[in-house]
Amino acid sequence: MTDFTDIDVNLSLAQRAWNIRHKALRMGAVQKQGYVGQALGVADVLAVSYFHALNYRPEEPEWEGRDRFLLSIGHYAIALYAALLEAGVLPEYELETYGTDDSRLPMSGMASYTPGMEITGGSLGHGLGIGVGMALGLKRKNSSSFIYNLMSDGELGEGSTWEAAMSAAHHKLDNLICLVDFNDQQADGPSTQMLSSEPADGKFEAFGWYVQRVDGNDLGALVEAFDKARNFDGPQPRAIICDTKMCKGVPFLEEREITHFVRVDEDEWDLALKVLEEGKPS
Ligand SMILES: [Mg+2]
Repeated sequence: MTDFTDIDVNLSLAQRAWNIRHKALRMGAVQKQGYVGQALGVADVLAVSYFHALNYRPEEPEWEGRDRFLLSIGHYAIALYAALLEAGVLPEYELETYGTDDSRLPMSGMASYTPGMEITGGSLGHGLGIGVGMALGLKRKNSSSFIYNLMSDGELGEGSTWEAAMSAAHHKLDNLICLVDFNDQQADGPSTQMLSSEPADGKFEAFGWYVQRVDGNDLGALVEAFDKARNFDGPQPRAIICDTKMCKGVPFLEEREITHFVRVDEDEWDLALKVLEEGKPS
């Protein structure tokens, strides 16, 4: 069990984001693989989600009054585990079990395995549709909770995403916030070259959403956007397009030719951790 007295509630968002990056890299080092490029890129979005925006109880992950955080991108599990470990939803010692047999932290996210993992994402393009259903359900229960759906820019190429976007506006789901990790990368190459979704913000607007687009590695900009999304006085569902940089925080990986599955050689995990540690916020 997590000892909740150990959790320091006074850390800054910059420290939280750094801790999320550090935990993701440490998990990657356990298996010598993992989607760490995405995790490093989206760490600031997760820090603002878990340490500014979301209502939840670490000791009671299924608390009915919680906001639901959906990881549509199941292969980003390593990033969400890092946030859940940092938040105390998962105990720290489980980090070392990442990807091993019988671990609650499988390499792709599965709801039945992991506390705090609300959905099994991974067939891509389904998180937003699930979020629409959950947001409708919460409204019928007169709940004031929000749904946050984290998806990728690659998922903007899925038709199911736009069916969900259309129905969210139709049903006036003002309790649904869609976060798009726009890192301009998907499995086969740069998203904007594979099947461009630009202007992504304009498309969501045309579908009837309240939309913001921010630098997804700027904590201040993210806090402002998350607050505006939650407090916006209108019936529209809300989207925040977050432009992020893959591998953020580890310069030698940032500069590497970026691919969906960033190559980190056997001997580079320790180096990546060392480089990250040099940038630790005070
Ligand atoms: Mg992407």
